[in-house]
Amino acid sequence: MSFSTRMAQALETRRAADGWRQRRPIARNDTRTLQAEGKKYLHFSSNDYLGLSQHPAVIAGWRQDAPGAGASGHVTGYSTRHAELEAQLADWLGYSRALLFISGFAANQAIVHLLAQKQDRIIADKLAHASLLDAAGHTPATLRRFHHNDVESLTQRLASPCDGETLVITEGIFSMDGDSAPLGALAAAARRADGWLLVDDAHGIGVVGDQGRGSCWRQGVKPELLVVTFGKAFGVSGAALLCDDATADYFLQFSRHLIYSTAMPPAQASALLAALHEIQGGDALRQRLSDNIQRFRRGAAGLPWALMPSESAIQPLIVGENGAALALSQRLMQAGCWVSAIRPPTVPPGTARLRITLTAAHRADDIDALLEALHDAAG
Ligand SMILES: *Cc1c(COP(=O)(O)O)cnc(C)c1O
Repeated sequence: MSFSTRMAQALETRRAADGWRQRRPIARNDTRTLQAEGKKYLHFSSNDYLGLSQHPAVIAGWRQDAPGAGASGHVTGYSTRHAELEAQLADWLGYSRALLFISGFAANQAIVHLLAQKQDRIIADKLAHASLLDAAGHTPATLRRFHHNDVESLTQRLASPCDGETLVITEGIFSMDGDSAPLGALAAAARRADGWLLVDDAHGIGVVGDQGRGSCWRQGVKPELLVVTFGKAFGVSGAALLCDDATADYFLQFSRHLIYSTAMPPAQASALLAALHEIQGGDALRQRLSDNIQRFRRGAAGLPWALMPSESAIQPLIVGENGAALALSQRLMQAGCWVSAIRPPTVPPGTARLRITLTAAHRADDIDALLEALHDAAG
């Protein structure tokens, strides 16, 4: 079959399943609202949970340095700003070292690729992010998945014999469900099997835990490998791996993602330093977010769609079929609320949903407007 035929068939299948993904150009986006195709909406599909992408200090930070690093970090792309950011991240999260990556996706690919060799096994939560599962699938190691947040299921998989090393993978707060992993029990199970734990805390860092230190800090767990990303609560972009000295040295020597790729722009490192400062002193922002979450959950209790047991900024409403989820999303858009429908394969078949996200930038009135639109759509 030719590339063209193969592509045409895949596209046809996707269209037929109401799975077509449409990008719509956004003219303006201030986290609380967005404008597209000449219309203004309240924005409930942003991961900018604290609204920091709009923060004057973060914007000023970006303006303080160059928009391009000019080289890989191993040549001349690693600036004093990068070094300062790594040092502050490591200190803040209680690790010896932090290593910056240009994105969470790249960080996860790099880590899994570099660690997992033949005879090793990767045991990942079924709902772990695509960047982790894809990477695992492309290594010579065996990939097994355990039932979502199920320590018993992980323990069973760990009990089967393995000649190599074991890497257990989970997220702090799950991106499409909004629930938290039982990190203490998962870490204990991994340790009993002499395995390492990798926690991707893309949605917890900045938002939960003392000073926003994330899910691991909140649960008193220190995984061997902690990934934090900066495209969500930090309001910018990029990621870091937190680890010990030997692991950091190993990555610097051998990670092709670090060696053969241009370093993060210095302007970005500078903006991230400002964002980190706002996060550390961000109790008021976290409180506002928490109030918005509570307000939404109280108001959504009577809706006909299943509300997930989530205490996080991610509040999905499970609709079921793709067409129904799309129709509900469209209905809300007509009412001025932008909520994207999320469909398989991003989520399991039959669980298409509205992934509602709340932020500190929303006002009480905004939440009420969304609730009213949802109740109208239900009635
Ligand atoms: C968003 C996300 C990523 C990818 O991070 P980027 O910096 O956007 O590439 C990785 N893991 C999880 C759990 C995510 O939600």
